[in-house]
Amino acid sequence: MNCHSIYPTVLVTGGSGLVGQALQSLQKNYYFHFVYLNSQDADLRSYEETLTCFQKYNAEFVIHLAAKVGGLYQNRKNQVEMLDDNLLINQNVLKVCHYLGIRKVVCCLSTCIFPDSIEYPINESKLHLGPPHHSNFGYSYAKRMLEVQCRAYQENFGRDYICVIPTNIYGENDNFSLEKGHVIPSLIHRCYLSQKKKIPWVIKGTGKARRQFIYARDLARLLIWSLEGYRDREPIIMCGGQDTEISIREVVDKIRESFKFEGEIKWDASFPDGQILKTVDNSKLVEHMPQFKFTPFSEGIEKTVQWFRDNYPKCRL
Ligand code: NDP
Repeated sequence: MNCHSIYPTVLVTGGSGLVGQALQSLQKNYYFHFVYLNSQDADLRSYEETLTCFQKYNAEFVIHLAAKVGGLYQNRKNQVEMLDDNLLINQNVLKVCHYLGIRKVVCCLSTCIFPDSIEYPINESKLHLGPPHHSNFGYSYAKRMLEVQCRAYQENFGRDYICVIPTNIYGENDNFSLEKGHVIPSLIHRCYLSQKKKIPWVIKGTGKARRQFIYARDLARLLIWSLEGYRDREPIIMCGGQDTEISIREVVDKIRESFKFEGEIKWDASFPDGQILKTVDNSKLVEHMPQFKFTPFSEGIEKTVQWFRDNYPKCRL
């Protein structure tokens, strides 16, 4: 299908995911024609499928979100899949973008791929300064290679292929699976079930780990800015300031408040917490976008919980 829109076409890989759907919810605010791809359109692990699919659209831009993504426990169990699938997806997408002469590609890394032993706060220059945390080394090395791949296309072919680095993302349309989901959607699902069944809410880990989170719709706005307004070639971290770092216990409190959950909460310390700290420095983003207003965490959680209640059990579980 060729696109005849008067606006430039942006092909979004991973368009059915958490961030892809956040983009869909905001697209009316922008002068772009967005085309959203999912794994039914093409298995991006296959070069041929990727090429055939991308050739159907006369895209000028690509926002590359597709990835094999999982929470802490999912990542640990499936290192080979996380490494191989993400390496293949990223290599094929960039290769095809280069072949088709796509004007700009914005790719998505994650702050969870930074070195485990590193001086905090984390900034963009520290990405390759040591091994990642052992719990997700497969995903991390594949994502780090995406930064290397983009840099190689920049250096050899002058391509405008760049990487943004969000912290943990949450919001409507997340994967709320109890086993495969990230921390916030899994907690929301579990709290919902505990409230419904009137049983204790059992939470893996101690709750001491601290994280910065970004609401998916905030990230979607920043992704579009990075396409239009970010002229550098270096990766850029995307999250609120260091003062927004909160413990998992505080996250649990917000979710409890949103559900008005009054049952018992039990912490199961036999499960690991992952990295205790991952403090991230967002100075580069603030320098470029001093006026950007992030959605307050309690408001983002309130909206996500409401969305989950409205869409259960049809949402991704
Ligand atoms: P989701 O897991 O919600 O969605 C993943 C998307 O990738 C889906 O659209 C899925 O399609 C697609 N996909 C997966 N495998 C393939 C494949 N082989 N071929 C084609 N498409 C495929 O991801 P998010 O929206 O959460 O993440 C977006 C980006 O942000 C990713 O690059 C991720 O690494 C990064 N990120 C995510 C964080 C988070 O907390 N969620 C944190 C930091 C970075 P389908 O629906 O058909 O399966």
